[in-house]
Amino acid sequence: MASTSQLSLLKQKLHSAKVALDEMTEGNNEKLHTLLQFIGHLSLACKGQNLELDNKLAKLRHQLSNADNVEESLPELVEVEQLLKQQYNHVMVQLEDSRASLSRVIRQIQRVESVPDKVKKEINYYKKDLAKPFHTFWDYIPKVEQLVGFYESILQEQLAQGDKLVVLPKHRQLAHELAHMISEVEFRKDQRDQVLVIKETLSNEIEVDSLIDSYQVILSLLLDNIAREKSASQEFLFALNDALSAVREVVTDSYNNTQRSFQLKKQLNREINSRVDDVGEAIIDIDDIHSLKSQVTEHLASIRTALGRKEALEEREQTLLRKSMETMRKELNDLSKEANTYKERLFEQQKLNLLDSLTQLPNRAALEERMDQEFRNFQRQKLPLWVAVADIDHFKTINDSFGHSTGDKTLQVIAMALKNSLRDTEFVARYGGEEFVLIIPDVNAEDIDHLLNRVREKVKSIPFKFKNQRITVTVSIGAAQILENELINETFERADAALYRAKHESRDRVIIDV
Ligand code: GH3
Ligand code: MG
Ligand code: MG
Repeated sequence: MASTSQLSLLKQKLHSAKVALDEMTEGNNEKLHTLLQFIGHLSLACKGQNLELDNKLAKLRHQLSNADNVEESLPELVEVEQLLKQQYNHVMVQLEDSRASLSRVIRQIQRVESVPDKVKKEINYYKKDLAKPFHTFWDYIPKVEQLVGFYESILQEQLAQGDKLVVLPKHRQLAHELAHMISEVEFRKDQRDQVLVIKETLSNEIEVDSLIDSYQVILSLLLDNIAREKSASQEFLFALNDALSAVREVVTDSYNNTQRSFQLKKQLNREINSRVDDVGEAIIDIDDIHSLKSQVTEHLASIRTALGRKEALEEREQTLLRKSMETMRKELNDLSKEANTYKERLFEQQKLNLLDSLTQLPNRAALEERMDQEFRNFQRQKLPLWVAVADIDHFKTINDSFGHSTGDKTLQVIAMALKNSLRDTEFVARYGGEEFVLIIPDVNAEDIDHLLNRVREKVKSIPFKFKNQRITVTVSIGAAQILENELINETFERADAALYRAKHESRDRVIIDV
């Protein structure tokens, strides 16, 4: 009995244990199922990193869809785990590479000078921030976006500034030519400050923009001068026209007056003649002396009246004539004054056109005129004629060491010295820059060397003092005598070649082409 009850107790316990086990198995299956589902979702989330990994994960998902295959899938799981580890390392290396390349780019950006200050600060912060490693791609993407932002603001800044153009040799040449032109052209007093500023700009290292500005300013100054010159000529022409029309009016008036007076006088003459005839007839016809007397007296009175009218007419005529003459004289006087001022201006202008504004020596145009003239003389008289070219030695050094305006003053002093070392019949012009041309007529071959060496010594002896430093400035001179059947330009070429030799030999010397 006891064992029966024990057995039934045992049976009961067994049953409840079985129920508990069944419940437990069911719970485990459920957990396993949830876990497998989770692995499935996770593998889907990993998709897209690596093809091999994707394939393995797909196979794994397929196997795990059936809980009975879990055991079989275990080796697959190990493989996937390894692949995932590799992929993680790969991603970390990639992130580190990306960080390094961002650092490189930002260093490049820091070298751009035109970056606005605000952006410069941001770039510094950014660079500091880049020192920390990236953990995920999500760290990387905002950095790239920020970098794009920097580029954008730099680009905007540069677009706003306009691209600074690169200065090429041709720009320097243009600057040089403009500087040369400025020194050849005479500007008005009120324009000179502007011209000086441009001269200064051109003598420094020029930028393309300021070169263009300089050309623009000089062009407008020149145009202004041309316009003024034109209006001055116009004024003169207007004055001429006014004077001529006034004279024409006076002439027409006095012609009309003369015509009218002529008619009146003719009439008066006729009147007087008929009165005289009347008197004659009266004398013949009348016997009675009393009535004759009264008739003659009457006729004479009317003759006197007519004569009086004639006289008055003539007087008026005279007055009118005098007035006309006066008006004309005044007009002509004004006109000739105007013409004289105009002539003077023209003369001044012509003189200015032939003078170099810096040194006040004749310029290249004047030199050409003089060479033509001397050449014609030579062809007529066949007297010796020399052309010499003088060039200051190492002049660039003076500009470079003491500045352009000291260079200008040096040029003025040397120009004076050259002029003073020559006779009146001899001629010196500033050919351009620091080169001068001398025309020397009527000097023999034996004397020319002495003459030119005297000129050279004269320049050398000028006591220049720059910045308390005693400086000796020298010139080299090349000269040639015009040959029979030679054009004077060919003589010039030979003199220039001789100068070239003087420069190459030692400078500070005279070489005569023979
Ligand atoms: P070299 O002995 O070979 O003649 O040397 P250099 O330096 O005199 O010759 P270069 O031709 O190289 O330089 C001439 C210089 O003269 C260059 C230019 O700047 C300067 N120059 C030309 N015209 C003027 C001017 O009007 N004023 C000033 N200050 N300098 C001028
Ligand atoms: Mg030179
Ligand atoms: Mg020189």
